[in-house]
Amino acid sequence: MALLNIEGLSVNYGAIQAVRDLSLTVEEGEVVTLIGANGAGKTTTLRAVSRLLRPVSGRIIFAGRDMTRLPPDEAVKLGIAQSPEGRQVLARQSIQDNLELGAYTRRDAAAVRADITRMYERFPRLGERRGQLAGTLSGGEQQMLAIARALMSRPRLLLLDEPSLGLAPIIVREIFAIIRELNEQGTTILLVEQNARLAMNSSHRTYVLEAGQMTFSGDSAQLVGDERVLHAYLGG
Ligand code: ATP
Repeated sequence: MALLNIEGLSVNYGAIQAVRDLSLTVEEGEVVTLIGANGAGKTTTLRAVSRLLRPVSGRIIFAGRDMTRLPPDEAVKLGIAQSPEGRQVLARQSIQDNLELGAYTRRDAAAVRADITRMYERFPRLGERRGQLAGTLSGGEQQMLAIARALMSRPRLLLLDEPSLGLAPIIVREIFAIIRELNEQGTTILLVEQNARLAMNSSHRTYVLEAGQMTFSGDSAQLVGDERVLHAYLGG
């Protein structure tokens, strides 16, 4: 059984059909990439999975449970965490506060403290600056904080929306090394990314979205050299 199973998902914004009849799966232990041009529906798909958007039809099954109608905090409790596009750290709060916020659904205070310590070991630059306001961090550091904050809920599935957005190439490589490492340590990841080549090189499987619909999918290693993927990614 897949960890995440999206069946026939459609999401509208008023009259705009952002996602149409999309089906995809993510197996436990995988990194799965969703690529496509601007406006293809990638962010909409992630926000439907994290329950921030209500689908007009379709089902979202997570760990065997239909969670299509659950509120977002229930999705977090069940094990889904999202690092949103644009990172959205709380700029006027400290790094420590941002991490505590990531654990807002948890009641195990001692374990939360231990996890924060672990995050500081995993992301030493956050540890060095723990009392500093998140808004004073560099873009790359804010991205690390957004990922660390998401991990604070101890997710079974981590949703990453455009982690490379606006970052210098050397920082992007660092972020992707972190993504691969998190996966090697057991985190299952659904990744949305503009940098298609990098995303495919860092994932097991890829789905290509065009104008809200899935056009093709397959093993990332095979799709990375496929001209149709390049075409879709560039928007036709
Ligand atoms: P991007 O890389 O630009 O974020 P995307 O693939 O994530 O692109 P979505 O953000 O999911 O695409 O957008 C899918 C479609 O829905 C687009 O046509 C977009 O204009 C539209 N859309 C997105 N958000 C809204 C909104 N809040 N209100 C109305 N239309 C929206």
